Amino acid sequence: MTRYEAVIGLEIHVQIKTDTKAFCRCNGDYNAPPNRHICPVCTGAPGALPVLSDEFVRRAVLFCLALGARVNLVSTFDRKNYFYPDMPKNYQITQFFTPIGSEGRLLVTGADGVERAIGIERIHMEEDTARSAHMGERTLLNFNRAGLPLIEVVSHPDLRSGEEAAQYFKKIYDIAVKYLGICRGNMEEGNLRCDANISIRPVGSTALNTKTEVKNVNSFAFIAKAIDHEIERQIALVEAGGAVESETRLWNPKLKRTETMRKKSGRNDYRYFNEPDLGPLRITAEFVEELRKTLPELPDAKRRRLKAYGINNEQTDLFVGYPEVGDYFINATASNTLQPSEYPIVSSLVTGEILKYEDKEHFETVPQRIPPQHTASLAHLIHTGRVTWPQAKELFAMMRETGSDPEEIVKNDPRFTAIGDDETAAIAAAVVADHPAETEKYLGGRENLLGFFVGQAMKRAKGKADPAKMSEMVKKELTNRKK
Ligand SMILES: [Zn+2]
Repeated sequence: MTRYEAVIGLEIHVQIKTDTKAFCRCNGDYNAPPNRHICPVCTGAPGALPVLSDEFVRRAVLFCLALGARVNLVSTFDRKNYFYPDMPKNYQITQFFTPIGSEGRLLVTGADGVERAIGIERIHMEEDTARSAHMGERTLLNFNRAGLPLIEVVSHPDLRSGEEAAQYFKKIYDIAVKYLGICRGNMEEGNLRCDANISIRPVGSTALNTKTEVKNVNSFAFIAKAIDHEIERQIALVEAGGAVESETRLWNPKLKRTETMRKKSGRNDYRYFNEPDLGPLRITAEFVEELRKTLPELPDAKRRRLKAYGINNEQTDLFVGYPEVGDYFINATASNTLQPSEYPIVSSLVTGEILKYEDKEHFETVPQRIPPQHTASLAHLIHTGRVTWPQAKELFAMMRETGSDPEEIVKNDPRFTAIGDDETAAIAAAVVADHPAETEKYLGGRENLLGFFVGQAMKRAKGKADPAKMSEMVKKELTNRKK
């Protein structure tokens, strides 16, 4: 039986958050009441002239740099001609002949755990269409979205599975939404839209066979499923002696399968030509370098850097996926005289305590309310044994409420004075003495009862004892009874 591999390329549309639309000064808030933000340019009145938004250009260049692409100092705006009610001027302004960005790359981790570079063929600027709503026989059009800036990122057909495609899509989302903040990231409102081109070929072949396009796989929950399903469908078809037809398909999440939307007959002829009302876009190398300086540390670099902190993979993923939380962690480790051995304690405090109360999606105000240095102080108090973990949890709650440094709270509150070894030993002895039946069972081999004794003893110490120390004392006390 032939073994097949999938050949997948993604086209991702990212709606760019700017104050105005791409080619007119209309407000970019598409959620305003229908047709509130429209003008002769974005509704295609004859004779209206487009004027390119500077902010759109800056954000497009920044995005190209973040995707490791070459920024073309001269790019063209071109007309894609087609007739559809959501585009009343009968063409869309896009970049066809020379896009703003070429040949970028992003890393994905394959099923074998090895990182691979996925090539990005082109990154181009264009405008969004109006939103249409079909009501029975009638179609309603809302032009608030018409002319909003869009960036399309077209990958090379380098992806091999639904899982890789999902990772790649997620990474573009993270960069645009969380790292650069150039897109609102609301998937339900279509801020990011993804179409997948999929074909199959025998393993070892380099042929590019007939592909299908699966439209609108816009959700992290089903992108991998939709693509893997389409791969299996094509393999089954070819194995049965059939041939894949060039068509556009849609994912049906209810039936968990892709379905034909329309057959593609020949090539669409969009009669592209240069947009005569705009002329080429020229930018300087200095302009690009200025923007490069404003780039934040990006996900791949952040992941490499976090490797040195001795934290687990789950925590690393969280810090990469939520850069504000990650920066908080890094700032906390940097803000004090902490030793590297204390970093995992900081990490546990961030993921275990702070995120118990705070929303990782809206973390902006946390550093002001709970300064990273305070979290570092708390980690240091734990590391040096001056407070126990149960005390630390209580201390954290107070710190969060009052905004005070935990060092100060501990100094002024007798409840946080950890009890000494003598007192710990006395409590351990008392608890063992109070439970003769359990002691007998323990000595008879039920060693898992140790947890019961330690739990009782910690309760009696009101959390002011060090659990490791208490466990050691209880064990010693029990062993002494053996003799
Ligand atoms: Zn307008």
